[in-house]
Amino acid sequence: MAQKLIDIDFNTLLKEIKKYIKQPQNLALIKKAYFFAEEKHQEQMRKSGEPYISHLIQVAYALAELRVGPKTIAAGLLHDVVEDCGVTKEDFIAEFDEEIYRLVEGVTKIGNIEFKDEKEYLAANHRKILIAMAKDIRVIIIKLCDRLHNMRTLKFMSDDKQIKIAQETLDVYAPIAHRLGMSEIKNELEDLSFYYINREKYYEIARQVELRRTQRDEQVNHMIDEIKALLSEQGIHFKIFGRSKHLYSIYYKMLTKHKKFEEILDLLAIRIITDTDLNCYEVLGYIHANFVPIPGRLKDYIAMPKSNMYQSLHTTIMNKQGNIFEVQIRTQHMDDIAERGVAAHWLYKEGKYNAEQEQKEIEEKLSLFRDIVSINEDDDEGDDQVFMDTLQRDFFDTNVYVMSPKGRVIDLPNGSTPIDFAYRIHTEIGHSTVGATINGALVPLNTVLKTGDVVNLRTSKQAVGPSEDWLKFVKTSHARNKIRGFLARKEMENRTPTIEKGVQMFKDELTRRSLDHEWLTNKKLEQIYSQYNIREYDDFMYAIGNKSIPLSNVMEKISKRRVSLLSTLNINNIFSSKVGLQKKSISKSGIKVAGADSIMISLAGCCSPVLGDDIVGFITKGHGVKVHRKDCPNVKKEKSRLIDVEWDYGQVSNLYEVIIHIESNDRNFLLNDIITVLSQVKAQMVGVNSQLNEDKITVSTNIRVLVNDTEHLRNVIANLKKVEGTLRVERIIQ
Ligand code: MN
Repeated sequence: MAQKLIDIDFNTLLKEIKKYIKQPQNLALIKKAYFFAEEKHQEQMRKSGEPYISHLIQVAYALAELRVGPKTIAAGLLHDVVEDCGVTKEDFIAEFDEEIYRLVEGVTKIGNIEFKDEKEYLAANHRKILIAMAKDIRVIIIKLCDRLHNMRTLKFMSDDKQIKIAQETLDVYAPIAHRLGMSEIKNELEDLSFYYINREKYYEIARQVELRRTQRDEQVNHMIDEIKALLSEQGIHFKIFGRSKHLYSIYYKMLTKHKKFEEILDLLAIRIITDTDLNCYEVLGYIHANFVPIPGRLKDYIAMPKSNMYQSLHTTIMNKQGNIFEVQIRTQHMDDIAERGVAAHWLYKEGKYNAEQEQKEIEEKLSLFRDIVSINEDDDEGDDQVFMDTLQRDFFDTNVYVMSPKGRVIDLPNGSTPIDFAYRIHTEIGHSTVGATINGALVPLNTVLKTGDVVNLRTSKQAVGPSEDWLKFVKTSHARNKIRGFLARKEMENRTPTIEKGVQMFKDELTRRSLDHEWLTNKKLEQIYSQYNIREYDDFMYAIGNKSIPLSNVMEKISKRRVSLLSTLNINNIFSSKVGLQKKSISKSGIKVAGADSIMISLAGCCSPVLGDDIVGFITKGHGVKVHRKDCPNVKKEKSRLIDVEWDYGQVSNLYEVIIHIESNDRNFLLNDIITVLSQVKAQMVGVNSQLNEDKITVSTNIRVLVNDTEHLRNVIANLKKVEGTLRVERIIQ
């Protein structure tokens, strides 16, 4: 195939550069870059057998054709020295400067992005990633020229590499060139890719184009003569030429618009370049006056430029022979933009800009670019639309793109952390992450990632796994779910022995008390544990196993009688026999429920409300209303099943059972004194459970007492506080 493989040496390159760069210091910079690159790449050969420097000259030549500035050309010449020749950042900057280094670094970074063949990574995303990562548009321009030369020399690569690189060029690089309006480069990239991806079709279309060439050339030349004569009469300065579609665009239109080859090729194309916008419209007027315009085919891209800044007038006309021509009319400047796109907007003008101004100019043009997109929604090429603004919205605002050290690109929502990154790569990686570095620096795991960050995770097989803290900062629900799953599993694992222990304890206790082992079955036991607001058998056994529900209390409920609780009187069990087997005299509930007299009402065992407490009713399933204290945590989350209840002060006085927790310093006769106080304040004790704490200094005592009301309870607590050695006295909720 016809490839632009002109053998260019440095002198040819310099000649092209000197057409627009003349200042000695700029030329010196380019020469210095050239000699530096030549020396560093000295030993290296390309696959084609040429010395490596020839690649760099070609890239620089393509850049010079685009009329970029001297620093961009220098960066083009140097774009592989850091990656391939191990030149360090420090050495590079010492030799050149930081700006050129950043350009080279950007090109290298993009080159290292591996566009994996993953379904979630569509070609469109690849383009956005690439642009998001190259914060300086000059980086992309250098990369496009680099890719162009690589494509021109692709035949030296192995077959599978050819296909892979060609596909990537077609999916990623050619569309970027298109978006930037660099149609010359875009067309060449497309045709080269087309050739390697589908050689058969490529040759077929090339052959058909060739077959028609003579006839077409005749028709076009005839039309050109007619228009020349017409416009010369009017004294308008202009250039006119025919143009041919490139092969891939013919193929693409056949494919996407379901047209036959003939239908596409039958459109003959002519371009007229003139001096001013006004001339363009004038030329259009004369042409429409002399030929038959096809209705609906006039497009004014001068008044309404395309999103990639393309400007031109388009019309389609028919001549007397019945041939149809597509005519484009534009100024030289518009033509430059059409061929070179954004590059044409900041054609380097020597002496006019310094580097910073050049960069500022680029950015202004890019924002102009975005503005154009937003006002030009009805662009006739669907794939053109919303390019820059989706880029802006989706990729700069809501997503970050980060890389693994191997160059794999991962997109994450804004605010994501190394933990989100870890779980995106693999669940096991997430679970075993113990640390992370970003761009080589060790960072906390909750560090927010930025686009372009290279994230390196530290994992350990000994890692304890995700902690609950991670849930506070992870951004993705994916990571959150995996962490929760892990924690739940871990808790289950931890629970199992405790549940088994609970079952065993319960069983032993049943045996000890000669009670029916049927209590071990879920169904029978449900009546018991529902009294603790527990819904699952396992949860109940877990509570027994970890002693959060005293087994004795359960037994009490089972045997439905008051049993004194003397199981663990560590300190002073001499009183055990004296602790009464008293019956609590709760007769009627003493509680009123609004609008429901005959409802079954009972007091909740967990918080044991006392006459005078703020209370609330909880509607149970099949057990009427349970009355809880308003601050009982067991009902706080059950808003929908709560009803208002109040004490019926007119009722005969009841006694209410409460549990009081006492923390004391251990001493002889402690329990004796407590019981004495209780008898003094006329509070009947129905149970006690006291044990020495782990510190071996303090004692925890739970006593169950019957009180008349909250006033009585306050009195009890106040007096218990006076017992020598008492640290804390409180009413508790189970
Ligand atoms: Mn290269």
